[in-house]
Amino acid sequence: MTKGTYWLEHAWLGDHVEPGVALDVADGRITAVRTGTDTPPPGAEVLRGLTVPGLANSHSHCFHRALRGHVQVGSGTFWTWREVMYSYAGRLTPDNYHALARAVYAEMALAGITAVGEFHYVHHAPGGTPYADPNAMGEALIAAAAEAGIRITLLDTCYLSAGFGEAPNRHQQRFSDGSAEHWAARCSLLKERDHVRIGAAIHSVRAVPADQLATVAAWADERQAPLHVHLSEQTAENDACLAAHGRTPTRLLADHGVLGPRTTGVHNTHLTDEDIALLGDTRTGTCMCPTTERDLADGIGPAVALQQAGSPLSLGSDSHAVIDLLEEARAMELNERLRTRTRGHWTAAALLRAATADGHTALGWYDAGTLEPGALADFTTVALDSVRTAGPLPRLGAETAVFAATAADVRHTVVGGRHVVRDGHHLLVPDVPQALARAVADLRA
Ligand SMILES: [Zn+2]
Repeated sequence: MTKGTYWLEHAWLGDHVEPGVALDVADGRITAVRTGTDTPPPGAEVLRGLTVPGLANSHSHCFHRALRGHVQVGSGTFWTWREVMYSYAGRLTPDNYHALARAVYAEMALAGITAVGEFHYVHHAPGGTPYADPNAMGEALIAAAAEAGIRITLLDTCYLSAGFGEAPNRHQQRFSDGSAEHWAARCSLLKERDHVRIGAAIHSVRAVPADQLATVAAWADERQAPLHVHLSEQTAENDACLAAHGRTPTRLLADHGVLGPRTTGVHNTHLTDEDIALLGDTRTGTCMCPTTERDLADGIGPAVALQQAGSPLSLGSDSHAVIDLLEEARAMELNERLRTRTRGHWTAAALLRAATADGHTALGWYDAGTLEPGALADFTTVALDSVRTAGPLPRLGAETAVFAATAADVRHTVVGGRHVVRDGHHLLVPDVPQALARAVADLRA
C-alpha cells in the first residue's frame, strides 16, 4: 500500500514486545506507531504474530546457493570447498546469474529479509574480458533484487590477486579489473536507486595488494559508502600476511586507512588482542556468518570481545548453506555457550538488533531496521502459533523468535510499505522452490 495502516498483533519495539500496535505508512515510510490499539482499526491490514523490523542479511554471495547439498558430500577444508565454488563461478553469465539471484532473493524475502548486502566479485566474462556493459553482472543482481521485492546494497568487490604477490589464477581472472583504479572507474558507473545502495568491498588482504587498498578506501570515503572486507577467516591468510608484510591483516588494513565506522570486517575469526582493540577503537563493524563459519570449519570468532571493544555486530548468511537470519542470530550466542560453557552472552533483543538495525547500518540503510516514525516501512512477521513457536507467553516473543523459530515461521514480509510475502507466499515470484530448482539446474547443465 502507498498509504494505509497495518495492525500488528504483537510488535517488537526494540526493547520489549508490545501487544496491539497500529503502524501508519505512507510513501514507503512509517508515519506513526500507535500503541494500545487492542483491535484492528477499520481497513487496517492485520498481521498476526510478532512483527519485527525487516532482517538485514549483511553478507551474501548469492551464487553459492547453487552449491547447497552438492558440497556436503565428502570431506576437506575451506580451501577444497573453494575449488567446488570456483567451478560454479566459472559458469555464471548475466542471464543465469540474474535467474539464480532472483530466486535466492525471493528465498530471502520468505525468510523475512528485506535488505541484502551482496558481496559481488564475478564481474567479467571468463578469462577477464569485460561485458559490453562492464557492470552487466552487478546490474543483473540489482534487477533480481527488484523483482524479488527486497533492497540491495551492491558491495562491488575489488579482487586483483590470488595471494600476496601472485597474479589471479584462471578462475579468478573474471573477478579482476586489473587495478584498483580500474575497479573504481567501473564502480563509478553504478547508480543508486530507491531499492539500491552502492558500496565497496575489498575481497581480502590476499586479493588486493597493499599498495592498492587506499584507492578502494578513498572511493568509499568520497561517497560515504559502506566498505566491507573478508578479514582473518582463515589462519593460512594470517600466516601469509605476516610473511609478506610482517603484520596481521587487521594491522595492514589499519595502516592503509581501511578501518572506520563505515567499514565492516566479515568473519573476523582469527584475531589477536591488538586486532580486536584496533577494530573496536576505530568502530569498525563485525559481520558474523555463523552458519557458514561452522559449515566451512572456519572456527568461532571473538564476537563478544569485539562488541565489548566497540565493534557493532551484524549477521550474514554468506554461502547460504541455509538462509535463516534467526538461525544466524541464535548461532552466534550458542557458539559462545559451547566455547565458554556459560549462557546469556547476548539477550534476544541484542541478537535481534544485530539482525535488524545494526545490519541495516552496516549496509548503508541508516533509516531502516526499526519500527518508528520516519523509518522505511520494512518489517516482517514471525508466527507465534506454529508447531515450533506455540506455547511461550507472547511477551517472550523475541526470545521465542530468536531461539526457536526458523525461516519457515516467517508469515509476512513488507518492504517499503508493500507486501512482498503474505501468509508465507511470495507475491512477486509465484513458485520460489521451482525458480530455485530451475536456476540451479541451468547452472549445473
Ligand atoms: Zn563471504
